[in-house]
Amino acid sequence: MFKDRVAVITGSARGIGRAIAEALAEQGCSIVISDVNAEGCQKTADEIAAKYGVKAIGHAANVTKKDDMTALANAAVEKLGKLDIWVNNAGVLRDDLLMRMSEEDWNLVLDVNLKGVFFGIQAATKVMMKAKYGKIVNISSVAGLIGNAGQANYSAAKAGVIAVTKTAAREYASRNININAITPGYIQTDMTGALPEKVQVELAKMVPLPNKGAPSDIAKAARFLASSDADFITGVILRVDGGMAI
Ligand code: NAD
Repeated sequence: MFKDRVAVITGSARGIGRAIAEALAEQGCSIVISDVNAEGCQKTADEIAAKYGVKAIGHAANVTKKDDMTALANAAVEKLGKLDIWVNNAGVLRDDLLMRMSEEDWNLVLDVNLKGVFFGIQAATKVMMKAKYGKIVNISSVAGLIGNAGQANYSAAKAGVIAVTKTAAREYASRNININAITPGYIQTDMTGALPEKVQVELAKMVPLPNKGAPSDIAKAARFLASSDADFITGVILRVDGGMAI
């Protein structure tokens, strides 16, 4: 389905981003693995190229830097010929109760999770507008829908991603660029693995479905939104959370 497509995924050296890259590569998509972790993104790109027999390159970029995002979009075109799919996935946590949260932690989380999406959409659409084709998928969170104690910064950023997605979907629809978001629930990755055991147990209790959420659950939804099966879908916020935010 993705044989002539080129995708960029931010924050894809590991976790959900890597799973999205693998789901697309599995169906023949050429991939740019991008991450602030330069070593990690080259290694992941090499592993994906070997495993799926697709073109995959690593390109280090920090989503909080506008120039990095522009260079990333240009690298896809220069090295792989075009840019069809862009996934704004990079994210960080700096949890604390609101009364104790530092300005530094507020700013970092807003910069990576929200401003990074803004820069990502700007960079991707600059290329996609010329082609009159593009699929952008933003990774938000259930925290952006229902909030989460200890995550004032993160839930504000992720709610912002939802609002940016809806606005951008309206702005770019006439250019045939679809822009949607996914709100993952509790998914087992290094990010959530670093949370205190007690918090992980509490989060798991909030999920009605019996299975644990895996990065591949988010990847399959992202692949759908990036596919031609979703050509008439834009501005949608898709919950993939085992029912957590019903
Ligand atoms: P993760 O920590 O495993 O992976 C995040 C990746 O982003 C890392 O490789 C990291 O190096 C990279 N990154 C961090 N800052 C960056 C920056 N400034 N520029 C570029 N890359 C940067 O996390 P994950 O669980 O795979 O999360 C992926 C996305 O899914 C995030 O946006 C996260 O907020 C969201 N999400 C995760 C869950 C969950 O339960 N795991 C739930 C809801 C939403």
